[in-house]
Order: sequence, then C-alpha cells, then structure tokens
Amino acid sequence: MIYLDNAATTYPKPPAVIEAVRRHVAEYGGNPGRGAHRLSLRAAEAVYACRESLSALLGLHAPEGIVFTENTTYALNMLLKGFLKESDHVLISELEHNAVYRPLWRLGESRGVTFSVFPVVGKSIPQLLQGIEDRIGPRTVAVITTHASNICSVTLPLREIGALCRRRGLRFFVDAAQSAGRLPIDMRAMGIDALAAPGHKSLLGIQGCGFLALSPTLQLDTLLEGGSGVHSRLPTMPVELPERLEAGTLPVPAIAALAAGVSFLRELGQAEIERREKALFLATKERLSALPDVVIHQPEEAGAVLLFHRKGEDATAVAAALDRAGIAVRAGLHCAPLAHKALGTPEEGAVRVSFGPFNTLSDADALWQALKA
Ligand code: PMP
Repeated sequence: MIYLDNAATTYPKPPAVIEAVRRHVAEYGGNPGRGAHRLSLRAAEAVYACRESLSALLGLHAPEGIVFTENTTYALNMLLKGFLKESDHVLISELEHNAVYRPLWRLGESRGVTFSVFPVVGKSIPQLLQGIEDRIGPRTVAVITTHASNICSVTLPLREIGALCRRRGLRFFVDAAQSAGRLPIDMRAMGIDALAAPGHKSLLGIQGCGFLALSPTLQLDTLLEGGSGVHSRLPTMPVELPERLEAGTLPVPAIAALAAGVSFLRELGQAEIERREKALFLATKERLSALPDVVIHQPEEAGAVLLFHRKGEDATAVAAALDRAGIAVRAGLHCAPLAHKALGTPEEGAVRVSFGPFNTLSDADALWQALKA
C-alpha cells in the first residue's frame, strides 16, 4: 500500500515510536501521579520528559504549560469552552476545521458567542491582516486560526497575526493539527497564547493523545473535573497547570510514543522534512497537471497537502479506485466545509493527497500512473 493520507494520521511510524509504546506497557506500566512506587514514578518521568521536549520544540515558557488531551479536538474544545464568556466575539480564518467551527457554533447556542470569518485564500499578508483588522469589534476577544490547512498547502503567517493581536489586545489561539512537527513554531516569539495539536500526525506519535500548550497568562475554566493526583481533599480542581486540566488517567503509552516521535523529528531535522514534502508536492503537482481532466486546487504554495478533483467524476469514486490500485488518499470534505467553500471545490468535495516524511518520488509516480490508468 502506498500511503498518501498523512494529514489524517502519519503512517508508518518510526520503529523507536513503536518501541516506546512496548516499553511502557511491558516494563514500567504504572499510573503517573497515582502512586509513589517506582513503576508510577517511571511513568511520571516519561510524561514529564514529553512535556519538556514539546515545550522546547514549540518555544513555550515552561513544560507545565503542556496539557495532555485525547486529541486536538478535545484540546480546542477545552480552550474555547474554558475561555469564552457570554457574548464574546472571535475571529476565525476561512480555512478552519470543524474542530474549531463546531465548538464555536455550539458556544453561539449556549453563550451567545459570535464569530466572523476572515479571508485567506489568494490574499497577501497585508491583505490578510487588513481582513482581520476590518472585523475587530468592541466584543472581540481572540483570533483563532489554523496554522496549515488540512485540505491544501496554504499556511497562515502566525508571526504577523500574533503581532497584530498583541497590538489590538486580543488573544491568539492556533490550531496546529497539520503543522506541529513539520513547520517551525515559536509560541513566545509568535505571540501565541494557546496552541492545540495531535500526537499522531506530524509529531509521529500514535493515536490516543493530543495536547494544549498554554501560556501562563491564560486561566481556563475546566471542561472536566475528577482525580488529579494532587490536593485530593479539595472539592475543586487544583489551580496549577497541568493538573487543573488533566482529570483522570493519562494515555501514557501514547505520550511515551509522542516523546519518541519528537526525538526522531529532531534527528531528521524539521528543515529536511519540509524539504522532502515540498519536493514531493512539486513533483506530484507537475505529474497531475499533465493529466487533462485533473483540476488542482490552490497549487501556488508548495506544502504537504495537495487537493484535486477529476472533471465529471465523484471524488469518492476516484479515491476508491486509487484504493483498489493500492494507493491510500482521502476524498470528500475532510471535516472542513468552510475551507472547501473558500477553495471552490465541487459540492461533494475533492481528493486529498498528503505526504509524510517516509514518502518518496516513486509514490508520486505511482499516483500519476494509477490516475492515468
Ligand atoms: N484541525 C485540523 C486542521 C485538522 O486537520 C484536524 C484533523 N483532521 C483536527 C483539527 C482534529 O484533530 P484530531 O483528530 O486530533 O482531533
């Protein structure tokens, strides 16, 4: 199977990641913070080591700001529902995933939260920033944007948006589901107050954990309450991070895997990953552009995701045919109807090809040959 669905989850995983899971389960499978014996302490050390490597990778102030969650969606819900108050207004980009759009919609129903959408596709950085400025109102409290789209190669200029947010006194929240691990991120330098990401995509961990990286200036209400392993006499969750937001047992095997994924990335180098993905993107684009019935969406910027459709053909049928030819891609709306609308894809969506660090040029060739056939 040629795997070109890395935006859904990266596959395969580095052997060191699989070994990290095995070691936790087989050798030190205690519950961190839930015992003073050595198996619990070993597990707690593994969790802390992962907080440390993530906070160093992302330029966060301190490892305690890393809050582990089940996935990115959980982290974004925790952030939005823990921060936004009655009648607040926020700005989001037109490329947002349902993991941002739906919680905001729900907050509209429950707390009267409103949002405005600023344009990105085809805009220069000054035009994009102006689009944000134009939509700021008296009740605006935050800008929330994806870093890299999950359906095309567009990335947002975080540093510039962060600077605008600082100037205008707004919080800046980033959905880094498609960028953490692949693209450089420095939360402090970019003025990011909170960032959500999964462990199992470009950070090369396994499914089962994501995280919210929080700056110390942000105090969130809890989404979930329960055991935290500290201050057990209190009826309320502790105030300190990360315990405040981590109720219940953590997914330690997935956290250990994530730490191993970050080490692998550091050895390979983010710049090398970006270089490989861009080379593959350009090679695939060149091959697909030569096919008369293929329409590529937003091809200007090279990245890890390429979106196309075939004239007169249903995207799902194209993906199913590719699957029969041994090539894994994803078709449809990719949980991002706003973004598909912004790109003007057909009603039923399009076919997404997404590259990871283990794809090679021969994969691009195989896709091209299969589409020709
Ligand atoms: N945001 C974006 C941009 C995504 O691509 C995804 C995953 N497709 C998510 C959020 C949700 O991530 P998770 O599945 O980890 O909740």
